[in-house]
Amino acid sequence: MKQSQTLIPTLREVPADADIKSHQLLLRAGFIRQNASGIYSFLPLGKKVLQKVEAIIREEMDEAGGVEVLMPALQPAELWETTGRWGTYGPELMRLTDRHNRSFALGATHEEIITSLLRDEVNSYKKLPLTLYQIQSKFRDEKRPRFGLLRGREFLMKDAYSFHSNKESLDEAYEKLMQAYSNIFRRCGLDFRAVQADSGAIGGKDNHEFMVLSEIGEDTIAFSDASDYAANLEMAAVTTSYPEQAHSGKDMTAVDTPDQKTITEVAAFLNVAASDVVKSMLFIADEKPVLVLIRGDHEVNEIKVKRALNAKVVELATHEETSTYLAAAAGSIGPVGVSEDITIIADHAVKSMGDLIIGANKEGVHYKHAKLNRDFSISQFEDLRFVVEGDPSPDGNGTIQFAKGIEVGHVFKLGTVYSEPLNATVLDENGRATPMIMGCYGIGVSRTVAAIAEQFNDDKGLTWPVNIAPYDLHVIAVNMKDELQSQVAEELYKLLKDYRYQVLLDNRPERAGVKFADSDLIGLPVRITVGKRASEGIVEVKIRKTGEVHEVQKEELTDKLQ
Ligand code: ATP
Ligand code: MG
Ligand code: MG
Ligand code: MG
Repeated sequence: MKQSQTLIPTLREVPADADIKSHQLLLRAGFIRQNASGIYSFLPLGKKVLQKVEAIIREEMDEAGGVEVLMPALQPAELWETTGRWGTYGPELMRLTDRHNRSFALGATHEEIITSLLRDEVNSYKKLPLTLYQIQSKFRDEKRPRFGLLRGREFLMKDAYSFHSNKESLDEAYEKLMQAYSNIFRRCGLDFRAVQADSGAIGGKDNHEFMVLSEIGEDTIAFSDASDYAANLEMAAVTTSYPEQAHSGKDMTAVDTPDQKTITEVAAFLNVAASDVVKSMLFIADEKPVLVLIRGDHEVNEIKVKRALNAKVVELATHEETSTYLAAAAGSIGPVGVSEDITIIADHAVKSMGDLIIGANKEGVHYKHAKLNRDFSISQFEDLRFVVEGDPSPDGNGTIQFAKGIEVGHVFKLGTVYSEPLNATVLDENGRATPMIMGCYGIGVSRTVAAIAEQFNDDKGLTWPVNIAPYDLHVIAVNMKDELQSQVAEELYKLLKDYRYQVLLDNRPERAGVKFADSDLIGLPVRITVGKRASEGIVEVKIRKTGEVHEVQKEELTDKLQ
């Protein structure tokens, strides 16, 4: 591709509203542009990178037995009503009405669509197993879209769904897809971990997230420094299979007066953040409907808690609102959890009803009440174990470390949570109708691009891994006015393309400084500069990542690039 014929609008300044590296660089290097909050266009270079990631995903998915399909983004509300998610998915689901006043969702995910499809097309166990996938735009009206492609409102996802007539077959597909995911993220050059994740409202038991290790990640993962053990913090905090001998001894049963401890005391005793105590308690209270009152800037946990517990989440702004709400709700709800800024709620709520109130105030020392009474005495949390950094790993190998992670992939064993309500059954060996057993497997394709950019950059710009770079080689004619230089550059461009390299030729009539700065910013793995020594047949080869420079006779170039 010749740069004079494409669109690569580089920027010298750091865009004001972009506060992480990947977002800044993808904008500055002209890969993406924002159209509205959380909504982006991929410009030619961005599109190329997406295609590279997609190609890797397709190869690995196909290898794992997947078959590609394409489903609609517009989904009839009835399907979502049947599974109950028209109600429970909440404001994240984008909804619209057609001219006949029928309701639709813009697909946030495709379990409803694919399950109804298979219900109509597959009726015998003999046609299973089947794994279908697509790469398609998803829509989620995120409360706080941010970090560019990392949390968009329209974003590209690879979503796969597997269908089985027995559990063993699901286990087999799950294993294969876990392996495929590891291959994909490894080929993308990412430093990642597969972590055990919470099961969420979706109801499945086995469930892993693929986390790219990064300071700007929104999740916290606990992992062993000497083995493959890794879990997200919520999961790690409530794991009950933690062997006694491997544990630091900090467990809740040792609290003196169990049902009158404040959350601060519990947290101090366990040496963990109070908010983790809250999260963990909410997480394991899995049998009862829980009302979670959320205050403050807490949307990520809000969503998690909601999904983990199928809980009702209510935001209440004032004392009056809170007491009114609780008075009205008294008796009809189970335990109440208050997350984050409890101060407003606690004074009133604890008095107005005797349900469980647990919570933590954001302002550290100002932790307020945490009453554990009636439904939940603390002794019910006997099995609860908290993981603290430096603890021995549950598998006995190494010690626990914490890290921040970006969730790039997520795999679930769904079981029959969708096939049952949607009545997607097959006839088994005995001719009995039985609901199909399902798994689902997502990858944030556009988020993966951002995660790669986040891990591959330096102070000059992006430093794409070879597998992902939009082009392999950047050929630069330093001075386009110099006929020889422009001619040699053009010849090299043709030759290298013949050798099947993907080449970007900077043939713009720009100053050398501009060209080099843009080239560093764009970050192709190798730069070939055609400058003054072109008359002697010598060009300069520079490796972007290391800065290594070689002068090479242009005839030797193709050997050198091997
Ligand atoms: P998150 O916890 O970050 O909100 P999620 O758990 O809601 O993500 P899933 O429903 O598991 O997301 O969707 C599968 C994958 O889609 C995620 O692992 C992630 O890589 C990607 N993804 C989810 N939400 C977004 C988003 N708003 N923007 C970009 N990618 C996203
Ligand atoms: Mg989400
Ligand atoms: Mg998540
Ligand atoms: Mg997820």
